[in-house]
Amino acid sequence: MRWNPWHGCRKISDGCLHCYVYRIDSRIDKDASEVKKNISTFNLPIAKNRRGEYKYPSGTLFYTCFTSDFFLDEADGWRDEAWKIIKERRDCRFFIITKRIDRFDACKPVDWGDGYDHVTIAVTTENQKMADYRLPIYLNLPIKTKVIICEPLLEPIDLSKYLTPEIKSVSVGGESGDDARICDYDWVLGIREQCMRAGVGFSYHQTGAKLMKNGKLYHIPKDKQEDQAHRAGIDVSIEKGEQ
Ligand code: SF4
Repeated sequence: MRWNPWHGCRKISDGCLHCYVYRIDSRIDKDASEVKKNISTFNLPIAKNRRGEYKYPSGTLFYTCFTSDFFLDEADGWRDEAWKIIKERRDCRFFIITKRIDRFDACKPVDWGDGYDHVTIAVTTENQKMADYRLPIYLNLPIKTKVIICEPLLEPIDLSKYLTPEIKSVSVGGESGDDARICDYDWVLGIREQCMRAGVGFSYHQTGAKLMKNGKLYHIPKDKQEDQAHRAGIDVSIEKGEQ
């Protein structure tokens, strides 16, 4: 289930160049750089039906803040309220992806401690520069479930020194959209190899719109990108137990 307590974002790194939030908003003449609280859906995880029961049952996975960044400074005034909602639904799971892990300490709730058991914080690293900046910060933070997302993958990345036992998995994908940058399959395989050596799970999430494989460029339609990646059959599952 998607839960977007606010909408809109500010571009901060190379991976943001063709951000899908901007792309989708531009189709309806909306300015994605204007960050707004989503009043009507802000309380979605704690919404109740007429019988006073939660609309979303125990165990629901909420993909949180997928049309913004949860740690965006423009959202500082709303985040405590969002944390309260997350805390109330400890019977569910929340999956948050950020490019602003350097703001985590300033933005975490006061009772975070070693981390909430039901919250995964994933960090995006699209190139080596961002891996080398964000991942040392990430590895030092008290977060129960850690996932690295290399999407859109823009170049080969050496993640090996960051693939410690606390990293549950790495997910890799290319870029979508008409202006997508090329994702080379060899870069994908390179990260997979590093994950296998380190005993970290790996998934090839989607090919992106322009896939380079064995020196040949393939244009993959949006509705085939996930399927094509899945068909490659290169995911690696490593059981680390529920964290
Ligand atoms: S951080 Fe994410 S949502 Fe924000 S501009 Fe970059 S890609 Fe878009």
